[in-house]
Amino acid sequence: EPLAKPFQLHDLRARLTAAAAMVLPIRESDVQDALASHQLVPRYQPKVRLSDGAPVGCEALVRWQHPSRGLLAPSHFLPLVEAGPSITPLTYQMIERAMTDLASWRQRHPGLSVAVNVSARSLDDPEFADRVWDILARTGADPSSLTLEITETAAMADTAAVAAMLTRLRIRKVNLSLDDFGTGFSSLVELHRMPFSELKVDRAFVGTMETDRDARVIVKAIIGLAHTLGLTTVAEGVETEGAMDMLREMGCDVAQGYGIGRPMTAEAFQEWLDARAGIVAPPLARVG
Ligand code: C2E
Ligand code: MG
Ligand code: MG
Ligand code: MG
Repeated sequence: EPLAKPFQLHDLRARLTAAAAMVLPIRESDVQDALASHQLVPRYQPKVRLSDGAPVGCEALVRWQHPSRGLLAPSHFLPLVEAGPSITPLTYQMIERAMTDLASWRQRHPGLSVAVNVSARSLDDPEFADRVWDILARTGADPSSLTLEITETAAMADTAAVAAMLTRLRIRKVNLSLDDFGTGFSSLVELHRMPFSELKVDRAFVGTMETDRDARVIVKAIIGLAHTLGLTTVAEGVETEGAMDMLREMGCDVAQGYGIGRPMTAEAFQEWLDARAGIVAPPLARVG
């Protein structure tokens, strides 16, 4: 058995520094460094078509590959990012990275699409639509293979200008999704005001609908409303086979959740797709 190393002061100091780094608050300058050194990375969570289980694509979810704290979920840093200047560059980095990864998945699975979350604050950039269009052109991506997921537009400085800008993207076939519908700021007002093509039912309802009759009624009503408006419906937070069956019966189009797949690296998603070869669905489209 090897002898224990003699006590060394610099070891202790290094350990204390590492421990302090775990609990110290994250600062805006840390976020800027993380962006510059590409520590903010996507994980991809699969989405399947409910009618036959075919993969339709995935949602990009940001993680911070932190040098001392490990892989951090958005709840640890996104509120800070959203309050500062880094949110817009983060959005563009995520879109560019997602479209690059999509190009490689599409070599074997041509119908796939990818969704990227867009904070309302990044839409305050008047050049947002042009920047997205540049990324699509640079990556050679089909505009209809990109979905922008938006939760809250009410807080924006100029909603009319944002609506006009989003309409320019929508006309060019980029999909716009209202995320977390039914909770927080994702309301009927938003649906009415912005040119959405898709609605995501919040997991607060999806996760409880198997045991809670009211939640079930709400999910069913939301799906009906969305379809009447010509929107594609996506249920998030699908964890069980029972929820899948229930959503299929309700006519929901797409499902996403831990029961289908956890957020994973681009390489793992490629393998997940390859394991389902031959059942990739064509892009979802509804008229309207
Ligand atoms: P979201 O867009 O509603 O994403 C879904 C969240 O639910 C993700 O959490 C996902 O990991 C989690 N989730 C998925 N399936 C299940 C399930 O079956 N059960 C449960 N309990 N949870 C599930 P995550 O990755 O922590 O992201 C949280 C939120 O952070 C996202 O909610 C989104 O609003 C925001 N976000 C994530 N990535 C980005 C990004 O790149 N940019 C911006 N602006 N926001 C992001
Ligand atoms: Mg989302
Ligand atoms: Mg959501
Ligand atoms: Mg959510």
